[in-house]
Amino acid sequence: MARHLKQQPAHMRRVYMMRRIVALVIVALFVALVVISVRGSHQARNQHAAIATSAASSTSSAASSPAPSASSPSAEQSSPKSSSPKPSASSSSSPSADPKQQAEQQAKQEEQRQLDALAAPLSDDERSAILASAKKASEDQGKQPMQMVYCVSTKGNVGSADGFADTVYRVLNNEHGWPRSGVVFTQGDESNCTVTITLSQPELVPSFSEYCSPEYSCRVGSDVIINKKRWDNAVDDWLKAGGNLAMYRTMVINHEMGHALGHRDNETTCAGEGKKAPLMQEQSMFLKGCVPNPYPLDDEQWTTFVGPNA
Ligand SMILES: [Zn+2]
Repeated sequence: MARHLKQQPAHMRRVYMMRRIVALVIVALFVALVVISVRGSHQARNQHAAIATSAASSTSSAASSPAPSASSPSAEQSSPKSSSPKPSASSSSSPSADPKQQAEQQAKQEEQRQLDALAAPLSDDERSAILASAKKASEDQGKQPMQMVYCVSTKGNVGSADGFADTVYRVLNNEHGWPRSGVVFTQGDESNCTVTITLSQPELVPSFSEYCSPEYSCRVGSDVIINKKRWDNAVDDWLKAGGNLAMYRTMVINHEMGHALGHRDNETTCAGEGKKAPLMQEQSMFLKGCVPNPYPLDDEQWTTFVGPNA
């Protein structure tokens, strides 16, 4: 009985010890779980914050993105900076875009640069310098330059005509254009112009003559009419053959002015595959294997116009 009594407390103590150990293990496991879950949610919050800040920084400035990505190798994966390479990596994937798309984008930018250069506002000094180079182009061909005074007008709803008059002045006096035939151009007012160049709403082009189409530009007597539809869009086939809108505007101004200088449609046509189309060929309708060309060819450099010396 005494032994039994002695053994019982020892047995009880062992059971008690076991319970304490089990309880301690459970508490330890619980604490570990709590710590893990708290750290996990903290990391998740950090990542959300990091994505938000990197998204904001990538829109605010492209220059800021290299900084976090440069520091990322030394940063832990869970740090806010480590998630910033994700957006910068996606933004750096644009240079590896389709080369064809890139070439198209560059051509578009170059076209816009040329259009802006043609339409930029002209100062008096710039007008004088352009006119001087036009006279020189005449003289270089052994011709005494004559002066034609033209006026600029608009008809119908053509929106802002800003840049139209300055484009016309630059195109007509370009050293590759009609000045080589011995004609240079100055812009006058309504009282003294030999030719009026009008930017017209497409539907109103036939109001100048029943022979004029709402689809194309036209010349009637002393009126040179530039169709707004073509001014804005050129012609698809002509563009596909290697032209751009700045070239088309140059071609159509020179072609229609060519009529006022005595030239007729298609007096010469394409001389062979891949050669420059004659200016007076109706390039908007057909190229006949030639490439788009905005200036009179050498054998088109003549005029019936007679005017005062420039
Ligand atoms: Zn024509």
